[in-house]
Amino acid sequence: MTKCVFCGREESPYKGVHLISNDGSTNFYCSSKCRKNALNLKRDKGKLKWTEAHLITKQKAADKKVRETAKAKSKKEEPVKKQNPKE
Ligand SMILES: [Zn+2]
Repeated sequence: MTKCVFCGREESPYKGVHLISNDGSTNFYCSSKCRKNALNLKRDKGKLKWTEAHLITKQKAADKKVRETAKAKSKKEEPVKKQNPKE
């Protein structure tokens, strides 16, 4: 099983297209949809909902939100010491 470079789906190596560049690196595209989106249309795979990269970016954003809210809560809960001017 080979993993698609664009959508991240596992597919048999006999299906799809293997693009081999001059430096020897191989890129596997499972379908013409993935190949055209990556090479012709030059789309960002993180922005397309049907790719694995989108799920990862979505999870990262959710984790970041959770951390930010936790930080904001911890800042609010800290007791503020009032200084007495007479002391
Ligand atoms: Zn694909």
